Amino acid sequence: MFGASLFVQEAAGLTYNGLLSMQHRGQEGTGIAVLSGSNIVCHKDTGLVNEVFTRENLGKIHKSKLAVGHNRYSTTGRSAHINLQPFVTEYLTGRIAAVHNGNVTNAGKIKRQLMARGLNFNATSDTEVIASLIAYHCMREKDALKGVIRAADELEGAFTLIILSSEKKLIAVRDGSGYRPLCIGRGPAGLVVASESCALDSCGFRFVRDVRPGEVVVIENGEIIFEEVILEKKDPSSGLCIFEYVYFARPDSNIDGLSVYEARYNMGRMLAREHPVTADAVCGVPDSGLEAAIGYASESGLPLVSGFVKNRYIGRSFIFPTQSERESAVKMKLNPLRANLQGKSIVLVDDSIVRGTTSEKIVTALKQAGAREVHMRISSPPFRYACYFGTDIDTEENLIANKMELAAIRDKIGADSLGYISIGGLKAACEKAALPFCTKCFTGHGQKER
Ligand code: AMP
Repeated sequence: MFGASLFVQEAAGLTYNGLLSMQHRGQEGTGIAVLSGSNIVCHKDTGLVNEVFTRENLGKIHKSKLAVGHNRYSTTGRSAHINLQPFVTEYLTGRIAAVHNGNVTNAGKIKRQLMARGLNFNATSDTEVIASLIAYHCMREKDALKGVIRAADELEGAFTLIILSSEKKLIAVRDGSGYRPLCIGRGPAGLVVASESCALDSCGFRFVRDVRPGEVVVIENGEIIFEEVILEKKDPSSGLCIFEYVYFARPDSNIDGLSVYEARYNMGRMLAREHPVTADAVCGVPDSGLEAAIGYASESGLPLVSGFVKNRYIGRSFIFPTQSERESAVKMKLNPLRANLQGKSIVLVDDSIVRGTTSEKIVTALKQAGAREVHMRISSPPFRYACYFGTDIDTEENLIANKMELAAIRDKIGADSLGYISIGGLKAACEKAALPFCTKCFTGHGQKER
C-alpha cells in the first residue's frame, strides 16, 4: 500500500514507484486512484505493476497531488478483478478510495448489517466492506475523519488502511494491535505513507516514523494535520505479525524499530545455536532464506556458499502447460550450483515450510546435484495453524506440520536432518522491535494449542 499527499501534481507517478518497490507484497493485481477535482479516478487490473501501468493509462491519471495505490495478494475473497484495490465508493456528499492490508474478521457480520440498510456489494473481499462502512459513516458524520474513526472502531482483526478522501485528505489507520506495518516518509514534495520503508527509500523520501498501533493520521497538502492513537487493542494476545520479519517484508525495510535484515540474520544465528550440525557448508534458499543463511554461517563458522542460481526472468508470465512441467517449476526457477555441492554435506536454510512441496523439491534437487547430505534448517517454527489476519497460508489440513511430526516431515522432504527455530528463539531474534507479536500461526488461537 502506498499513499501520497504532495505539493506538486506528481502523486500518481510517485505511487507507481512506491508500488514497484513493494511488488513482493502482492503480485495478483495492482491499482492507483487519484483525486481529480472532486472526482476520484482509478485504474486497476490483474498483473504486475509494470504490466498494468503503461505510459498511456498512467498519463491519464498523472495530474494529481493526492493518490493511493495497492498491490493485491488475496487473503479474503477470490483472486478476481472485482476484488482489486483501491475501492472507490461514492456517498451523498463525497467520495473515498480505500486501500487495505490485513484481514477483517467481522467483515461478514458488517456486510449483513449494511445490506439490511440497503447497501449493495459486488466483490467478495473484506476491503469492499470496509470501504462501504467508511462511506456510510462519512455520510452520517458529514466529515471524513469522523467517519473513518467510527468505521475503524467497528472493525475487528487486522487492518492498515490508507483512505483518499474527496475532502483532499489522506487518512492513514493502523489497527489497535498493529498487525501489519505502516510508515510515514517526508520529502521535498510532501508526505507519503507506505506499508514498508523500502518504498520510501526508493522514492527518495526520508523515514519519519511508523504509524502507531491504533493511530489515525490525517495528511493534507503534504502536512500532518491530525495524529492520535484512538483505536483500542481488542485482543490482548495480538500484535505485529512476526511473519513480516520471517518472510513478507523486504530485508531493506525497517519495521517498528527493527531492520528486517537484522531480524533474519539473528534468526539464522539462533538456528545455528539451537540446531548445530557437522557439515561442509551453508546455503540459503533464494530469496527468502538468504539472510538467515548468512546468520547461520556466521554463528556456526561454516562457509557460506551459493547453492543455487536463480533465474530472475521467470515471473508469473511463465506458464506451465502440463502438470509435469508445473512440477518442475522449482527446477526452472532455481538451478543447483553443482560446483559448490558435489560430495558435500550442506546446511540448507529456508524461511518456512508451509505445505512442504517446495522443500521436498529443493532437497531432491540438491541431492541430484551431488550433495552428500542435506540438513534443512527453518527460520520459523512449524506452521500449524490457519492465519485469520492476512497471511494467505493454506487450510490447516494442508499444513504439513499440522499433520506430521518432525521425523515424518524430515523423511517426506528427503532431508538428513530437520530443525526449526523455537518460538522463543524467533522472538529473541526480533526482540529489538517496539511491539509485541502475533505468533498464532505457530502457537494456535487458544482453543487447540499444542
Ligand atoms: P510450501 O512449503 O511448498 O508450501 O512453500 C513454502 C515456501 O513458500 C516458503 O519457503 C516461503 O518462501 C513461501 N511462503 C511462505 N508463506 C507464504 C505465503 N503466505 N504466501 C506465499 N509464499 C509463502
